[in-house]
Amino acid sequence: MKIILHKNKIKKFLENKKNLGFVPTMGGIHKGHISLIRESIKKSEYTVVSIFVNKQQFNEENDFKTYPRDLKQDIEKLKNLDIDVLYLPNHNDIYPNGYNKKIKINIFSKKLCGKNRPKHFEAVADVIERFIEILNPKNIFFGKKDMQQLLIVEDFIRKKYPFIKVVACNTIREKNGVALSSRNFLLTKNDINTASKIVKLIKKNKVKLIQDKKFKNNLKKELYKFGVNKIDYIEPLDVNKIIKPFRKKRNFKIFFAYYLRRIRLIDNI
Ligand code: AMP
Repeated sequence: MKIILHKNKIKKFLENKKNLGFVPTMGGIHKGHISLIRESIKKSEYTVVSIFVNKQQFNEENDFKTYPRDLKQDIEKLKNLDIDVLYLPNHNDIYPNGYNKKIKINIFSKKLCGKNRPKHFEAVADVIERFIEILNPKNIFFGKKDMQQLLIVEDFIRKKYPFIKVVACNTIREKNGVALSSRNFLLTKNDINTASKIVKLIKKNKVKLIQDKKFKNNLKKELYKFGVNKIDYIEPLDVNKIIKPFRKKRNFKIFFAYYLRRIRLIDNI
């Protein structure tokens, strides 16, 4: 695994290399990231993984500051995976002339996380577009754990870079049901127990949540009893009916976002 810090170097290294798989991450590497990387290695001749904590997409200074960063450990976890390049750009490498304030993305970006995190998905699309321009990948890998992000980025790429394929990868969970996430490194044992109870409760009540709109409020009360600090949303949505072209088959997921102390967690089941 070659580690490259600058875009000119990586562009040079990738010259004439076709069939590139790209896995963008913000580090805090866990088995969720690793499953995306394995998928890329399977499907691509070359795999590039990036670690870049994209300040622009954070709405709270504190969330950005406390975001789990442990580059040494990340490299340890990645080095034996058959990755071709680990790209570690700095802010100027990605944004030499500042952010793109005019980026256009699907209006689904205003819903769910977009309500509590204005401009978050615009920032995600901005950074992904910059990586695309540098790396020119054939496949990009995203996790279904961040389903809203996946759908928005997929739509953005389909319209602007139709020759690139977005590969959606399944959510990897702990045995206790909690989806792996870099932010889990910030959780206490007690938080993890709470998160596990929440996933199990939502899973158990999935059908009820889809059929009875009012039931959501009962469930929210239960979550507060578990010790949740704040709930941003619990929302049943048909994944196949959110962004056109719609697919025929129904595929409901319960999207949810909540805080344990100051740590915001999202998932969908
Ligand atoms: P992040 O570093 O959190 O920006 O995540 C990088 C990529 O890994 C995104 O496409 C995420 O959706 C994906 N990802 C994060 N957690 C998981 C998980 N538990 N299972 C599968 N993919 C995940």
